[in-house]
Amino acid sequence: MLAAPSRRAFLQQTAGFAGAMLLSQLPLACAAEHDVILVNHVGFAPPAGKFCLLKGQSAVEFAVIDKSTGQTAFKGVMSPVGGDLGPYLVGDFSELQQAGSYAIQCGGAASGDFAIAADIYESAVAKSVSYFSRQRCGNSKTGHHAPCHLDDGRRSDTGQLEDVTGGWHDACDLRKWVNATLYGVTGLYRVLDTMGPNWQRQRILDEVRWGNQYFLKMQEPAGYVMDYCGGDDGNHWTDNRRSTADDRPIHVDPCDLPSQYHFLAAQAAMTRHFAQDDPAYSHICRGAAIKCVQWCGRAEQPSTTAALSMAIMAAIEMHRALGGDEYRTMASAHVRQLLELQTTGFFRAEPNKPEPFRAIMHGNLPLLALCQALETFPAHPDAPLWRHGLRLHTDFLQSLAQRAAFGTIPFGLYADRDPGGSRRLGSYWYRWFMKPRDENPSAGEWWVGINAHLASNGVGLCKAGRILKLPQLMQLAQRQLDWILGVNPFATSTVTGVGRNQPQLFQTDEFTPPTPLIAGGVMNGLGGSANDEVVLAAGEYNTCEYWTPMTAYTMWLMAELQIGS
Ligand SMILES: [Zn+2]
Repeated sequence: MLAAPSRRAFLQQTAGFAGAMLLSQLPLACAAEHDVILVNHVGFAPPAGKFCLLKGQSAVEFAVIDKSTGQTAFKGVMSPVGGDLGPYLVGDFSELQQAGSYAIQCGGAASGDFAIAADIYESAVAKSVSYFSRQRCGNSKTGHHAPCHLDDGRRSDTGQLEDVTGGWHDACDLRKWVNATLYGVTGLYRVLDTMGPNWQRQRILDEVRWGNQYFLKMQEPAGYVMDYCGGDDGNHWTDNRRSTADDRPIHVDPCDLPSQYHFLAAQAAMTRHFAQDDPAYSHICRGAAIKCVQWCGRAEQPSTTAALSMAIMAAIEMHRALGGDEYRTMASAHVRQLLELQTTGFFRAEPNKPEPFRAIMHGNLPLLALCQALETFPAHPDAPLWRHGLRLHTDFLQSLAQRAAFGTIPFGLYADRDPGGSRRLGSYWYRWFMKPRDENPSAGEWWVGINAHLASNGVGLCKAGRILKLPQLMQLAQRQLDWILGVNPFATSTVTGVGRNQPQLFQTDEFTPPTPLIAGGVMNGLGGSANDEVVLAAGEYNTCEYWTPMTAYTMWLMAELQIGS
């Protein structure tokens, strides 16, 4: 838990802003020192939904103070909202759209400073792009302990040396899981797609190409991508010399099926993005994509929500890169299968089983897949069906978000049993946070916070808001980011160098030097106890370790919220 002195320091930092004269004009119902007003530490794009929270149960007036003049820019009432995560007062100042620097006051309580600006998240997204350059593995100039792992790796089947150098370290460790680190490629090209082709273009293309060299090297001639080099048996620095005892093993088995499609989507996106800048490299990625899609055609056909969603997004990226009807047909066939797994709002994880889909690393894949199908093929004959499925799902997400004052989306639904917390929803249970044990029996007690879950939902809600023309979905998307950037019971931002009051970063004792603080790195984020109560766990890997999916989805969400509707 966050130590009390940190919270006091936070209050002291934020209590002395201009406009204090207004304090006497406001009710004192929320004057206690520890009742810090929670608001996104960075701020908002002008048209965004803007909410602030304060612990309490009685409505109270609040004021948004313009820091440049000390004058009140907006006055409103914070109203009580109960629910699972405690009684809070919620204020809505979405009407305030004037660019500027602001803080909120309510009685003796105050928020930190924040801004309203059209380019509100540009600096934060740029930091997250740079985060990847600090996580570079191999012979880089920018990696935090470069050069490193020049001896990756040795095949687990034949013992032969094979060059799989490059890529990124996945977390506050040195592992290079393919399924998780692929999110680095995805996050970077999605930022480019969202912010516009000229926003930090060379910087992003350079970074994504660095990461992609590892994935290209991990593709076998048969077309599939191997599992990983540097896992639990390779989480150490090496002597950088090949054929010595510390060379890291390459686990040559195919990565899981959703990640094969994820790899395919990544290579198709690289084909498209490099077509003008470097046609030769684009051609290499195109070849990798074709080989992978051919292997996927021979492999087990996707049937789970995770695999179908990834296959839809892969087919869409193939269509965007190569055109033609073939991949549009593939995408629509998979969307049809995916919608068969939808049950009044949510998606089951697989056919013939009641368990709902939930995913800590992948986030809300079916939401993203449906949105991207509608963005890419809005006039498809099946589009009305897709739109109906999307509306059902977003209605469901909205109703779930109303179960607590923060407006966040609970982590998941559970069939058949109470997963801890006794939170019922019809014949199902739900939790705000991943279970601290038994989520995945093979993973033992491994669990992490929910930043990727929140940010992926946020991305999908932004897209759905545009597609369905429902501004309230954009507002809901904003609240997922708000939680990551300070609107949570600990008033903590879990992004290094963005916002304030970050918890202590997890530091491993498995190797030296450990991963340093890296600006733009997104930690796993707040998690939950066995009874689903929010947990900060400062310094622990569960909540306070960087992880690629968390960083990728968060920077993508910031880009989506900045461009708005
Ligand atoms: Zn390395």
